[in-house]
Amino acid sequence: MTTQDLAGPGGVAVLDTPLSPIEQWRARPADQQPDWPDPVELRDVVAELAACPPLVDARECDRLRDRLAVVARGEAFLLQGGDCAELFDEVTAEAVHGKVRMLSQMAAVLAYGASKPVVRVGRIAGQYAKPRSRPFETVDGRTLPVYRGDAVNGQAFTERAREADPGRLRRMYEASATTLNLIRMATATGGAGGADLRALNRAFAASTTGRRHRRLTGEIDRALGFLGASGVSPATLGAAEQFTSHEGLLLDYETSLTRLDPLTGRHYATSGHLVWIGERTRALTGAHVDYFAAIANPIGVKLGPTARPDDVLALIDKLDPAREPGRLTFITRMGADQVHSRLPDIVDRVSRSGSQVVWVCDPMHGNTFSTASGVKTRHVEDVLAEIAGFFAVHRALGTHAGGIHLELTGAEVTECVGGGITVEDLASRYESACDPRLNRSQSLELAYRVADLMR
Ligand code: PEP
Ligand code: MN
Repeated sequence: MTTQDLAGPGGVAVLDTPLSPIEQWRARPADQQPDWPDPVELRDVVAELAACPPLVDARECDRLRDRLAVVARGEAFLLQGGDCAELFDEVTAEAVHGKVRMLSQMAAVLAYGASKPVVRVGRIAGQYAKPRSRPFETVDGRTLPVYRGDAVNGQAFTERAREADPGRLRRMYEASATTLNLIRMATATGGAGGADLRALNRAFAASTTGRRHRRLTGEIDRALGFLGASGVSPATLGAAEQFTSHEGLLLDYETSLTRLDPLTGRHYATSGHLVWIGERTRALTGAHVDYFAAIANPIGVKLGPTARPDDVLALIDKLDPAREPGRLTFITRMGADQVHSRLPDIVDRVSRSGSQVVWVCDPMHGNTFSTASGVKTRHVEDVLAEIAGFFAVHRALGTHAGGIHLELTGAEVTECVGGGITVEDLASRYESACDPRLNRSQSLELAYRVADLMR
């Protein structure tokens, strides 16, 4: 019997063989792992995935780490965005290209505002597993396990759909591979907004919201025109690199796709370029921190209002002992009402410790509320207020506001309030499987307003 047979997620391994560094997490408590009903089936799927080709290459991960090192120095800006939860059914060329185009267009606007290159990272091609606040949910007196993302179970409120199914991990790999192929197609041909960035900017300028940003849209139009006239092909702009990221929540899945890189002798998670640790799984002695310490990818850690400066310093020691430039990104999500009181101490202590990390603002997860009828939503103005607070805190401390992390989509859904969408409108096109996302117009308007903040 091997250690893997004995160690269940969240359980404590009975050590009869030494664990490899990437499996040492099995000896620690792992939060938010599914209750897989059939451990033999899980083991078979994991073994199958372990024999599959990597989804991303270690050198691509290194390249993102280099890009993030530039962000940490304040010479580039990070735009990270995508769905709260991707869905297997939404792996279509149209949906994926819509998201890539969205990021591409926003990146162009932000690059103009910041006068810096924008590093684009999608919450995409792997964002299939969700941490939940409660393990069960009750509807009309009936209680079932919560939906934990397409990687684990189904959304339908039936016993069958809600049972964790290890076969979904294989589908997660396949959906990620297909999505990655669509992203690589879009960037290879410049088709993801390259040729039409100027047209997209003009279309926005002509819209009702766009008219409020006449000065900026006009400047961007002239800048794009100048680039074209100077011989810079607009396709080159659209062909900018697009990296992938997701929350590295399911440790069995992540471990099965972790590969030893012969060039560096280090392990890489090959499920995506950047993986992050969520707010609910960042315990210092927990399994997630252990696994993340063993991989060489650039990594993120979410920090909510309960994060203490001492814990943040301890996370740096564990996750980035060599202080590698670009290795560690802190994604802060304090909420608009707490960003001014919670963020300064953390940033100040880290900066005085001499560590250079990337600071990114997630203005979504600290600003979620439920309407009177129980619909989960966010107000665009709260999102903007947290971003403004984030910039203000970093400006006051002389540190770099490195980027923003958003939940958004390329379609005109109605999940967040603001930009013409009222609480009453939410029901008309609410499609998110988990948290509410900014729609296409809200995302664009936000990009223009953030660009204004950075000028
Ligand atoms: C998320 O990013 O969807 C998420 C669950 O965030 P957090 O871990 O910050 O709550
Ligand atoms: Mn979310």
